[in-house]
Amino acid sequence: MSQKLICSACGHIGSSKTAIKGNGLIELVLWLCFIIPGIIYSIWRSFSRYKTCKKCGSTNLIPLDSPIGQKVLAEQGKTLEQALAEKEPPRKYSRGEKIMICVVVVVVIAIITLIANAV
Ligand SMILES: [Zn+2]
Repeated sequence: MSQKLICSACGHIGSSKTAIKGNGLIELVLWLCFIIPGIIYSIWRSFSRYKTCKKCGSTNLIPLDSPIGQKVLAEQGKTLEQALAEKEPPRKYSRGEKIMICVVVVVVIAIITLIANAV
């Protein structure tokens, strides 16, 4: 289970969302046209992951059990126990994530087909 965080921008309590720098479409085009730049771009993107607030996208996330996190919590009039007891809604895939999953599946099928035909 991921650590609970509080957003100092909007006050959202819960786990964070992982964001990646760069553009998935550019990555796909680089892979399809030029394999080497695609690999380099993918490696760069995989190292550029950062955590953002699920609600507002802010990067100002503070662990709930830290002194600053508890101060932000107190400003909302909540105790640490109340915040920890709050349940998060189940995770939903964003539109971009769904498209990316479909693209990966299609590319994998295409590669398998190419290999099967080459043999
Ligand atoms: Zn937020």
